[in-house]
Amino acid sequence: MSAEIRHQIQELSEEIRDHQFKYYVLDNASITDAAFDKLWNKLVELEQKYPQYKLESSPTLEVGGGFSTSFSQHDHIEKMMSLDNVFDKSELDNWFDRIGKTEVKNTWLCEVKVDGLAINLLYENGRLARALTRGNGTTGEDVTLNIKTIKSVPIELTGKNIPSQLEVRGEVFFPLKAFDELNDSLAEAGKPRFANPRNAAAGSLRQKDPKITASRPLDVVVHGIGAANGVSFDKQSTAYELLKSWGLPTSSRYQVVNTREEVAKFIDQYEKNRHSVEHEIDGVVIKVNEIDVQNNLGFTSRAPKWAIAFKYPPEEVSTKLLDIRVSVGRTGRVTPFAFMEPVKVAGSTVTNATLHNAQEIIRKGVLIGDTVLIRKAGDVIPEVLAPIIEKRDGSERAFVMPSKCPDCGSKLRAMSEGDVDIRCPNSQ
Ligand SMILES: [Zn+2]
Repeated sequence: MSAEIRHQIQELSEEIRDHQFKYYVLDNASITDAAFDKLWNKLVELEQKYPQYKLESSPTLEVGGGFSTSFSQHDHIEKMMSLDNVFDKSELDNWFDRIGKTEVKNTWLCEVKVDGLAINLLYENGRLARALTRGNGTTGEDVTLNIKTIKSVPIELTGKNIPSQLEVRGEVFFPLKAFDELNDSLAEAGKPRFANPRNAAAGSLRQKDPKITASRPLDVVVHGIGAANGVSFDKQSTAYELLKSWGLPTSSRYQVVNTREEVAKFIDQYEKNRHSVEHEIDGVVIKVNEIDVQNNLGFTSRAPKWAIAFKYPPEEVSTKLLDIRVSVGRTGRVTPFAFMEPVKVAGSTVTNATLHNAQEIIRKGVLIGDTVLIRKAGDVIPEVLAPIIEKRDGSERAFVMPSKCPDCGSKLRAMSEGDVDIRCPNSQ
């Protein structure tokens, strides 16, 4: 009897918290007020009758839901490893050679490497019990409430043979299209923009108020398993199929191949098309597909020996903004541009990048002398994304638009009211 009451109080408390979460955080009530009141009154009644079973975290102790992310620290059940990297095909060949020393034949699972934030989802009896950031690999920060606002992450697994305990590893990312929209709306509101989708994902996930996270269209892709009880896999690809069957967001962008040549083809194909993917990718991950071969190979102290990340050349690098200069165009338009310490990015050396106009410089918040993040995606012209504020030493100074033309000395002015550009009247 008493165990039953305890269980009933626990279930009711959880159910009420769920409804409150949907109502207060997701702004999406799942039951009527009357039905909610009924649950609530039932819980209050039981708690009054059996105060010894009242939960410390009972919803009746808090007013209005009270959902706030504490970022409290918890250990992962199984350590979250990182991946070793290779940066070209000959380094990759060395890795293949090391694996080739094992006698067993294996196949390769290739997948795109999502440039996001690593996350560990713990499911207990099919229910999302906790979501942790990677942290130092052993201990992460609790972001469960925030993860629960992400539509693609199931709160409850569905389907058959659900394990009693399952750690699922994945990546939180900000979809590219939504990232541009977010930045546009931030700029419109006069707020600083995020430098890249990865920063936007981190900034959106690391919110004390899960309502803010809920307002951002974050997404998740899962690509691995930590601790697992009540389930086993023979292949990495089988694991993905199972995860998918339970409702977890796996990627369709993976392929199992037999040869090194096919791996190379997968790498090249995604390098060429990396900007047509819905999220940022910074390379390809290659895994031994057979779990028994994975187990034979084992781990180093920080990474599995059976997986490797092939990293594409970075499209974002940092460099020093030495000066902001202006150039006068054919039409007399005066355009400020960044003059930077030469830096190699996406296959070419960059020293200059346009800053468009004085307002753009203010919007980006860059100062002369800043270390800045620059991006050059493929054939696209280089762009200054943002200053790296932590690198400032106080010697930086604001850019002032010149009042006279650097070519002819005439007084520069806007040609019409509200024009963000200033022009030299002697041109045209
Ligand atoms: Zn001039």
